[in-house]
Amino acid sequence: MDPIEAMNAFLARITAHDPEPDTTVMSLQVQVGRARETLQLSARAVHALTEALTRYVDPDDHGTCANCGKPLSKDLYCPGCGHVDGIFGQTVANHAATVLRQADRTDAT
Ligand SMILES: [Zn+2]
Repeated sequence: MDPIEAMNAFLARITAHDPEPDTTVMSLQVQVGRARETLQLSARAVHALTEALTRYVDPDDHGTCANCGKPLSKDLYCPGCGHVDGIFGQTVANHAATVLRQADRTDAT
């Protein structure tokens, strides 16, 4: 969908519930290529746009590594330090610790 068209559709959805749709509190100039449009936003529209922007989560955002803080892959694997996050990561870490303890016991005997 064209970004200007998307913006106008977004504002049309808000206008239907806006008690003061003609009271402009913010102007927003949008330019996509040669297309340019200045949108007049009411207080309700500004609030809705702010909510939409702050709630947006990038589809590639899978959180940050609990170990080093770098972005995780979709498999919750950290390419920075190799840590595997989440419940699966904790299970792998617990299993690795168990294997190490068993190896230590085998080496001690
Ligand atoms: Zn990490």
